Amino acid sequence: LGMVYLFQDVTKVKKLERVREDFVANVSHELKTPLTSIKGFIETLKGGAIEDKNVSYKFLDIIDVEVDRLNCLVDDLLLLSEIENKNSNTVYEYFNVEEIIDNLFQVLNKIAKEKNIILEKEIEENIPQLYGSYNHFRQMLMNLIDNGIKYTPNGGKVKVSVFEKDEKLVIKVKDTGIGIDKKHQNRLFERFYRADKARSRQVGGTGLGLAIVKHIVLMFNGKIDLQSEPNRGSIFTIEIPLDEKGLDKLVDI
Ligand code: ADP
Repeated sequence: LGMVYLFQDVTKVKKLERVREDFVANVSHELKTPLTSIKGFIETLKGGAIEDKNVSYKFLDIIDVEVDRLNCLVDDLLLLSEIENKNSNTVYEYFNVEEIIDNLFQVLNKIAKEKNIILEKEIEENIPQLYGSYNHFRQMLMNLIDNGIKYTPNGGKVKVSVFEKDEKLVIKVKDTGIGIDKKHQNRLFERFYRADKARSRQVGGTGLGLAIVKHIVLMFNGKIDLQSEPNRGSIFTIEIPLDEKGLDKLVDI
């Protein structure tokens, strides 16, 4: 039996090592792609393109977008590492989920409007407050609503509903978007996994959004579930236990 345990430990260590190596390779690749593009455009500018004002502006715009992309990626990496290391600076407090949703709708209203997407909320009356990190919870909802907008064609809708059920707070983020094929659904919460790489890049994704969401849900002792159908839309459902003991207990993730 000892040998079996030992064998299991070795496979586990090897698997973790593989995940770490994959992660480093992925990060390097994700950093390298925009850097190569930036370098290329700078060289073309220096090589003479700078003389043409129109071309220069076009190239500078592309460089600007690539720098933004790098910034988002670094921000997401820092956030992920902060969550994984359970940074002791995290502030724990009571907060109101509806307030977060109102604030996020304000922040995301501009990109939703550009695509003619309606942001809608349906909040049960007197829902209890949550206890934990306000900033992390806000980030989690931000990623889900932002994805809803990103992956929904013009004229669609993203709806957030919140209600209490069986001593849990249930939050649903539903969109009328492109949906996700069954074969991708299990892996979407992995770092850098994307159902459609080209589309994700085009809409400005880092590939880390849902990995961050999953970690934050776990911080709250919660569960996340996905229902989706291609071309019909997706529903991400989060359940956060409301018993206070559960909330105090920080989970190992
Ligand atoms: P990204 O930065 O690429 O959006 P995420 O981790 O947030 O990364 O999401 C991973 C992948 O899951 C996306 O690339 C996309 O393929 C898919 N996805 C996420 N949210 C949705 C959604 N609401 N509708 C359709 N596909 C989605």
